[in-house]
Amino acid sequence: MTIDPFLYSSRAVDVRFGRGRAADNVRDCIEAHDARRVLVVATRSQTATADRLTAELGDRVVARFADVREHVPASTADAARRTAAEAEADLVLSIGGGSTTGTAKAIVMTAGIPIIAVPTTLAGSEMTDTWGITTDGRKRTGKDPRVLPKAVVYDPSLLDGLPERLKVTSSFNAMAHCVEAFWGPRANPLTSVVAAEGVRRLADGLRAHGRGEARSVDELQYGSFLAGLVFADAGSGLHHKICHALGGAFDLSHAGTHTVILPRVVRFNAPTVPETAAALATALRVDDAAAGLEDLIAETSAPRTLRELGMREDELPAAVDVVAEKLPIDNPREVTREALQQLLGAAYDGKDLR
Ligand code: NAD
Repeated sequence: MTIDPFLYSSRAVDVRFGRGRAADNVRDCIEAHDARRVLVVATRSQTATADRLTAELGDRVVARFADVREHVPASTADAARRTAAEAEADLVLSIGGGSTTGTAKAIVMTAGIPIIAVPTTLAGSEMTDTWGITTDGRKRTGKDPRVLPKAVVYDPSLLDGLPERLKVTSSFNAMAHCVEAFWGPRANPLTSVVAAEGVRRLADGLRAHGRGEARSVDELQYGSFLAGLVFADAGSGLHHKICHALGGAFDLSHAGTHTVILPRVVRFNAPTVPETAAALATALRVDDAAAGLEDLIAETSAPRTLRELGMREDELPAAVDVVAEKLPIDNPREVTREALQQLLGAAYDGKDLR
């Protein structure tokens, strides 16, 4: 068998995974960086976790920033940067979901200091060098090696308080990273293996979660780690373009949008990449990838339509416009404005669902 030419470059992230080990691992990471002036970024819902994880750091913690908002509005990025500058922070400790990690990334883009990330959702941002900032309803994203955390501390027990719905939708956010990694612009033989393993772990974890198995979150978090890793390596396509455009413009839940859009994009691309669709189906342990994802979403009572996420029908034309602004989109199958109309129309009211 021949191997097609490919490029691969690895990134240096110190990853520490362990249930119940977050406090020790955070302390070790801070000491390894010899940080003396730590800025903690964590939302108010994570205050107790942040207190616990920083208890041993004493006066090394010099400031906190809690005013995190989803999709990182430019005003939030400015406020967080001011806090870091006033505190003369030499390291950002981010404890929270993708919005918290995103705020930490906005800080270090200008401050040039390291991030240690402790994720409390399954979004996967902690493993990527991608930032996103929203100005006037338009979310801009970009890659910058400075925003990649230097260390990531995974501890599944930190997800205990995550609301049920977010646990599931955040898993589909991670699943989307793996799925797009199959056809991302920098996909290579290694990313396909990692993506398949991530899909398998996430699908198994979601099914175990549905059966009420408490430790299912360990599998989900391991899957989300693989997902963030492979998303950073392989890049993304139509699915992420749609989710970022809609999230920024209509302030929709990021994880919920991923859940609703993913099976539609898979169904759209599958005829163009049948071998990939088959590999995806195998990893999901189903016969048809798009239908299998729809079933998994239904089984886990996750949202299936944009209407359920709070989008109004009269916003649909604007939704098509905001995604069409991104055309041409790097994706296995050519994306036209008509295709977007059809895909988003179906995603809005679920008329394509069985
Ligand atoms: P989020 O960070 O906005 O968190 C959602 C809500 O859950 C918040 O209210 C938060 O306080 C709360 N929360 C988080 N963890 C909790 C826990 N363990 N227990 C209880 N409550 C908890 O949501 P998200 O889905 O993690 O992140 C979405 C954002 O991340 C989007 O802006 C998205 O664009 C970004 N993102 C970026 C990348 C990247 O590579 N740059 C990847 C994935 C997501």
